[in-house]
Amino acid sequence: MKALVYHGPGQRRWEDKPRPGITKPTDAVVRITHTTICGTDLHILKGDVPAVEDGRILGHEGVGVVEEVGDGVSHIQVGDEVLISCITSCGRCDYCKRGLYAHCRDGGWILGHLIDGTQAEYVRIPHADNSLHRLPKDMDRAAAVMLSDILPTGHEIGALNGEVGLGDTVAIVGAGPIGLAALMTSRFYSPARIIMIDPDENRLAMARQLGATDTIARDPLEAIDKLTGGEGVDVAMEAVGIPETFDICQRIVRPGGISPTSAYTARASSSAYRICGSRMSRCVPA
Ligand SMILES: [Zn+2]
Ligand SMILES: [Zn+2]
Repeated sequence: MKALVYHGPGQRRWEDKPRPGITKPTDAVVRITHTTICGTDLHILKGDVPAVEDGRILGHEGVGVVEEVGDGVSHIQVGDEVLISCITSCGRCDYCKRGLYAHCRDGGWILGHLIDGTQAEYVRIPHADNSLHRLPKDMDRAAAVMLSDILPTGHEIGALNGEVGLGDTVAIVGAGPIGLAALMTSRFYSPARIIMIDPDENRLAMARQLGATDTIARDPLEAIDKLTGGEGVDVAMEAVGIPETFDICQRIVRPGGISPTSAYTARASSSAYRICGSRMSRCVPA
C-alpha cells in the first residue's frame, strides 16, 4: 500500500509499505477514505517529537471502512464506515475510567507517533471497540474527519478547560483549524466577546465569519489592553504551540482568568505536559 512515511526532521516520502494486519484480538484494520494533516504532524516534521522513529507512517485523523476485525472486537464490524479517534483507548484502565483517555495505559496518542498512522491506504487500530465510532449514513465524510481531533480538541482543551462562561471575554491566539474550532465551540457557552489573534488576515476574515467579535493581526498586547480597558481577558487560549504564543496568553489573561494550553505543544514537549497536568485529557507526554 502507499503511505506517507517520516524519515527524520524535514524528511517525508510517499512510498510503498506492507498492508497492516491484525496483531491483537482487539485490533481492526481500516481502509482510509479521508484523512488530513495536523499541526502535530508539522511539529513531528520539525523534529519536535523525538519519540517518532524513522520509518513511521504519519497521521492520526481519518475516516474509513473496516476491512478486518480481531476475535476480541464485538461492537465494530467489517464493512462499518467509521471515524478514527486520534486517541486510542482501552476503555478499561484507571485513566480511561476517569475519562482521561489520552493517558490510557495501553493507548493515548499513539497513531502516527508510536505506531503507524492514518496517512496511508490502510491503518491498524488497536482497541477498536473503544477507538472507532460508527458514522451515521448521511454524514458528510470529509466533514466527519474534523471530529477525529480538530473540533473535539478545540472544544475540550479550549472551551471546556478554559471554562468559558456567560459574558466572558475570550481571546484565542492562533486562528488555524484548532483556534477556529475553539472559537466555534466557545460560542456554545455565550461569552460576550471572542477576540482572535493571528497575523494572517485571511484566517481572521474566516474567524469573523464564524463569530469572532474582534480580530487582532499585530501588536496583540497593546490591542488587548485597549479592547479590555487594561483588564485583560477572562480566558486566553493558546492554539499554535510555540513559546511566543504561550507568552502572549500569560500576558493577556486577567488575574484569576484561565489559560488552557494547546494540545499540540502539550503532546510535543514534556515541560508543557507538566504545565497542563492531569486536567488536560488530550495531553500526552512525548
Ligand atoms: Zn490532529
Ligand atoms: Zn485505557
